[in-house]
Amino acid sequence: MWQILFMMKKSFLILLFFASSLIAKSSATFQSFDYVLPTDTVPYVFDEDEMTDYNDSLVSFPAYDLYCGWDTVNTHSAKFDISTLSDSTREIALYDKNSCGYVHPFSGKVTSQFGPRKKRYHYGVDIDLETGDAVGSAFDGKVRIAKKSKSYGNVIVVRHSNGLETYYAHLSKINVEIGQEIYAGEIIGLGGNTGHSHGSHLHFEIRYLGQPINPVDIISFTDHKLICDTLSLSKKTFDYVSEAKKAAAKNYASSKGNKGAKVHIVKKGDTLSAIARRYGTTTKLLCQKNKIKTTSTLRLGQKLKL
Ligand SMILES: [Zn+2]
Repeated sequence: MWQILFMMKKSFLILLFFASSLIAKSSATFQSFDYVLPTDTVPYVFDEDEMTDYNDSLVSFPAYDLYCGWDTVNTHSAKFDISTLSDSTREIALYDKNSCGYVHPFSGKVTSQFGPRKKRYHYGVDIDLETGDAVGSAFDGKVRIAKKSKSYGNVIVVRHSNGLETYYAHLSKINVEIGQEIYAGEIIGLGGNTGHSHGSHLHFEIRYLGQPINPVDIISFTDHKLICDTLSLSKKTFDYVSEAKKAAAKNYASSKGNKGAKVHIVKKGDTLSAIARRYGTTTKLLCQKNKIKTTSTLRLGQKLKL
């Protein structure tokens, strides 16, 4: 009897030993696990002297009061509500008298203007260049974004003290770091064909609190200089937004269906509202044309006039 009990105790101890070694092994594995940052985010790293007075350093970011922050991860700042703009204009000085003024980012031919395009609204101006051509900052400022994005490719966003932000996209090389102070004309990167781009060019954008502004409102792309000292910001500046929304809805309808189609043949899973959306029409119109009710059941193969 004692012998059996002794044997049981021994095997229990052996089991305990194995269990504890397994736990030790798994916790060792856990400790050696390293946290990997997502590749598309570039965290802002403070310099030692910046850390000495965190609050002061935050205030020193350009137009901090206007943006209430310094986001170095998201390319676009949150868009401000245009409807809050009064009809009177808000004058924005384009450069400080003590600054380096304006320097054209790249003196090339404009190949695409700000405005509606085939697939989506174009929120910038495209300037033709060769891959490797030097691209400079338009104004003095501080680099907020320097990263690789899916659509923009290698992109740099520079924030300026008046609240404007300039974007430089499709670059082949980024020569600056987040937080770096730069002056107008300083080479910040090299032109290229990265991201959603067909052929080397510079996609140049100007935004104010996240809202795109047509660069020709302030810049002459033939003379390569500013056409005014101040930007008069008013509701009129953003008249294009309703046009952009209409174009987006039209493109959505044409991308989802055949724009020229006159008849739709009902397929499995089709509903009246989905068909209406697909062809950029309404359920009511669809019903009127086909003399059916909104509650009518659709048959497979049924032909609907559009
Ligand atoms: Zn573009």
